[in-house]
Amino acid sequence: METRFPKPWDVFVVGGGPAGLATAIAARSHGLSVVVADGAVPPIDKPCGEGLMPDGLEALHQLGITIPEGESYPFRGIRFVSEGIQAEAVFPRGTAHGIRRTNLHRVLLDHAAACGVRMLWQAAVTGLHPEGALVAGELLRARWVVGADGTSSRVRDWVKLDATHQKNLRFAFRRHYRVAPWTDFMELHWRRHCQIYATPVSHEEVCVAMISRSPKLRLEDALGEFPELCAHLEDAEHTSNERGAITVTRRLRRVYRGQTVLVGDASGGVDAITGEGLCLAFRQATLLGECLASGDLARYQKGHRRLIRRPAFMARMMLFVARHPHLRRRTMQVFQSSPRSFAGMLAMHVGEGSTRDHIANGIAVGWELLKA
Ligand SMILES: Cc1cc2nc3c(=O)[nH]c(=O)nc-3n(C[C@H](O)[C@H](O)[C@H](O)COP(=O)(O)OP(=O)(O)OC[C@H]3O[C@@H](n4cnc5c(N)ncnc54)[C@H](O)[C@@H]3O)c2cc1C
Repeated sequence: METRFPKPWDVFVVGGGPAGLATAIAARSHGLSVVVADGAVPPIDKPCGEGLMPDGLEALHQLGITIPEGESYPFRGIRFVSEGIQAEAVFPRGTAHGIRRTNLHRVLLDHAAACGVRMLWQAAVTGLHPEGALVAGELLRARWVVGADGTSSRVRDWVKLDATHQKNLRFAFRRHYRVAPWTDFMELHWRRHCQIYATPVSHEEVCVAMISRSPKLRLEDALGEFPELCAHLEDAEHTSNERGAITVTRRLRRVYRGQTVLVGDASGGVDAITGEGLCLAFRQATLLGECLASGDLARYQKGHRRLIRRPAFMARMMLFVARHPHLRRRTMQVFQSSPRSFAGMLAMHVGEGSTRDHIANGIAVGWELLKA
């Protein structure tokens, strides 16, 4: 087959978002030759809550990446706000950062370029081929093809890896506001039908993302139900357009077939309410880099299952509480009156502390809820 890509590569990554770039960087660190193709032009934006939790920053460090100063804004914990009740907890270790997706993309891209990753932009991948994949219809030969093409992955469909254990869909809208952060916490505001989180991303900008089950509910309409948040955003200039996205809870039966393997949202995901999607993608990428180098994708599949377990559990718990107003009110009261319980939950969320601590804290919270 005639092609403008005569050179064969070790790894061809479909999708140059966070998961694709992180995988490319990890594979390069094992000496593999890597090319990434993305249909878009950098820096790529995407509707997101834009919070990188301490475990996500640690996962980035493992890839050799530190966010340069000025690109992000630190916050030290999470605050829940629900119908007049507030509860907050500080991360047990380190800080988190709010970072605009375009800034994060630039940081990842600079690192990938410095590692020798070859990039193809405005290069939509149109199909798979026994020897690699097709870029705008032309063959690019590669030993491994990595599908990092996001929630609606076509690679996943092409290679018939779309059989799921579980699938659940919600709708999100995001916008940025020019306003000085009023807090050094990331805030999660709860109502029964939707949640909104507010993440400080610079000294003069806050990202606001709303998630609900309705594709028709828009951010401005939902904000009317959140007077505490509206008070901060009133009169603030919009610094981005409202953009929509879907967030999908998806557990795949398998994440590879033959020489094709999935990573990031393409490989399944957890609801955006967790703020753990990026961390998960970076951890999967590190593991996938090792497994591509050793040629052992069965090990990747096993590790992938393990990595998704904790965020998936936290997502289930958070969505259950969100759906039950009485339970949510009680949980908020428990967290408000016992900040240690909330701190214990937050520690579990970001993977800190022992299983024993988490069980003990879970029992204490459960007991307080039962006493109500
Ligand atoms: C509302 C919302 C809020 C969120 N908040 C947070 C948060 O606060 N913290 C957090 O950690 N996570 C959050 N997440 C999750 C996070 O955004 C995702 O987990 C993350 O973007 C996954 O990265 P990815 O690279 O797998 O996919 P994507 O970011 O979707 O990247 C996929 C890339 O593939 C490219 N592509 C697709 N098809 C093709 C093709 N055929 N050919 C070539 N290129 C292709 C696309 O152009 C895109 O660049 C949130 C998600 C949503 C929806």
